[in-house]
Amino acid sequence: MIYNDFCGKKISRLGFGCMRFPKTYEETKACIDLAMAEGVNYYDTAYVYNNSEVTLSKCLEGYDRSSYYLTSKLPIFKLETKEDVIKIFYESCERLQTNYIDFYLLHALNATSVKKIKELGVIDELKKLIEQGRIKHLGFSIHAPKEVLLEALDLYNFDFVQIQLNYLDMVHEPGFEGYEILTSRNIPVVIMEPVKGGMLANVPAPLNDPFTKYNKYYSNASYCFRFLMQFPNIKIILSGMSSLEQVKDNLNTFSKEEEFTKEMADAVEQVRLNILKTKKVDCTGCRYCMPCPFGVNIPENFTVYNRHAMGEVLNNEWYKKMEYPKDATASLCVQCGACIKKCPQGINIPEVLKETLKEQK
Ligand code: SF4
Ligand code: SF4
Repeated sequence: MIYNDFCGKKISRLGFGCMRFPKTYEETKACIDLAMAEGVNYYDTAYVYNNSEVTLSKCLEGYDRSSYYLTSKLPIFKLETKEDVIKIFYESCERLQTNYIDFYLLHALNATSVKKIKELGVIDELKKLIEQGRIKHLGFSIHAPKEVLLEALDLYNFDFVQIQLNYLDMVHEPGFEGYEILTSRNIPVVIMEPVKGGMLANVPAPLNDPFTKYNKYYSNASYCFRFLMQFPNIKIILSGMSSLEQVKDNLNTFSKEEEFTKEMADAVEQVRLNILKTKKVDCTGCRYCMPCPFGVNIPENFTVYNRHAMGEVLNNEWYKKMEYPKDATASLCVQCGACIKKCPQGINIPEVLKETLKEQK
């Protein structure tokens, strides 16, 4: 396992993202046991990840608390008063069965949440927890433009920042520009969505031919990580591992440093261009837009929409024939617009859903 110095701690460069655990507890436990055995010591969960904190703590029962580092995140949209800050933090600690959280983040900052943090005095509440030793390091995650990143950085002397970056989304807010700003300020960076919600793990042939030509034994996902590992201030790369196979593949990728050669860079660039030619909607499957009050399964509809487009380009029957969800169809959408502001990708969800319906006639 490759390790980095991160906020004075020796942390595995591969972090276990806990938003998309396997379906059963037994599978999850097996994945975490293997990750622990192979030296993954950074576990990234959040208050709003469905039951993730409880499941994670159950899986880590029996391991020495000093053998792993826990993160969790404060959901700003759930705060009504400043008292909620400490209440939610304690609730996370209770679920995680811990007295302290090693890396605590303000979750998914945007212009609205930064304003709310200032108005409610959230940072002053968090400072109390830092002084008590309950929070060891404070950071934030962000899906917003550079301007909001800069405003967020003025809130506090943060120890680290988590941004989204992958070879397909280098300009996505705050994107690589965000990485450079953070690096120029000596703030270590954690990466989320390196495989774009799993999408880049499933790039089919012939789109991924440049990868196969470079090294047929490397998985699609491993190129995502190898690409990011060339940037030295990316200290931790999170992967939401949802099967033992994914854990094994990632452990192999992160087992040793490897030069990011010009040939590998060319292969990544070629695959990136191949993918961009086929996609219709920039959905990562993060599910922040869910649930839709009218029962539309938004990410599933978008996945099918993109797969159809990809199937057309590749003449891939399996993709072309993929069916839209029958009881969570876009036809249930009443165009209320409630989901739009929840989408970190800025997708005009009801408009795109309307487009998907044209395919379903
Ligand atoms: S706009 Fe459509 S998909 Fe979005 S919340 Fe409203 S009904 Fe659901
Ligand atoms: S539509 Fe937006 S919020 Fe919903 S799953 Fe896709 S990227 Fe996430």
